[in-house]
Amino acid sequence: MKRFPFRIGTTSYIIPEDILPNVVFLADLVDDIELVLFEVDNGPNNLPDKKVIAELVKIARQHQLSYTVHLPLDLRLAGENNEQHVSLIKANKVIGCTRELNPHAYILHLDGRDILHQNDPVALTQWNRQALLALQQVSQWVPNSRVLAVENLEHYPAELWDEVIKQASVSRCVDIGHFWVDGLDPIAFLEDRIQETRVIHIHGIAERDHQSLANTPAEELERVIEFIVGSNYRGVMTMEIFNENDFFSSMEVIKKVWKKIVQEDRWDNS
Ligand SMILES: [Zn+2]
Repeated sequence: MKRFPFRIGTTSYIIPEDILPNVVFLADLVDDIELVLFEVDNGPNNLPDKKVIAELVKIARQHQLSYTVHLPLDLRLAGENNEQHVSLIKANKVIGCTRELNPHAYILHLDGRDILHQNDPVALTQWNRQALLALQQVSQWVPNSRVLAVENLEHYPAELWDEVIKQASVSRCVDIGHFWVDGLDPIAFLEDRIQETRVIHIHGIAERDHQSLANTPAEELERVIEFIVGSNYRGVMTMEIFNENDFFSSMEVIKKVWKKIVQEDRWDNS
């Protein structure tokens, strides 16, 4: 069932259960589910096993559901000599384990700590090169490099990744909430980049981010949604929130905004 011109999604942590019960719970409520996978060395991990993957594939088929998969660690190379960094080893493991889901996108972060507040052009060039190499490596593990979506992070200038995204022919995951946290205009950024955007993350800001969209001023949410549908965006928009109340109240406000846009005939469906 298509609710909006884009594919609405949320995370695999809406009810306090594992991934599978969450997917069962959400299957008819959304078009896409972001699987948030974590793996702690010698500790808990929630990588789905073969049986769970087979169930997830079945549910997706029955409900026209897609998945996005968030890779666990910020990607980087270990050093100049190309040995594998733990972030790449884990990315490989997660991609291998979720291949049969044929994810709409793998969401990833590039580790930018070394160049934040860095004006040295040599350091920037070096960072760009290692980030590009890391992306090229990961690209070999997926059917198409466009499936990889590099996410902008709060407290980083979002343009930081522009160059490397272009060079690596990967997509973007634009997190609107991270712009709001930093007091920046997401549309100013999206305008030139929505064509290469495969996933949009959205969440409300209260005491912290990743809260219900009911916390977002209605005019701002309307402005953003109108821009997204006005750009003919057909990708995924994930409400990146983590409980049932936030899910239902966020869905409610998005439906309300969408209804208003349609009623006022501000959406050109041609
Ligand atoms: Zn995000």
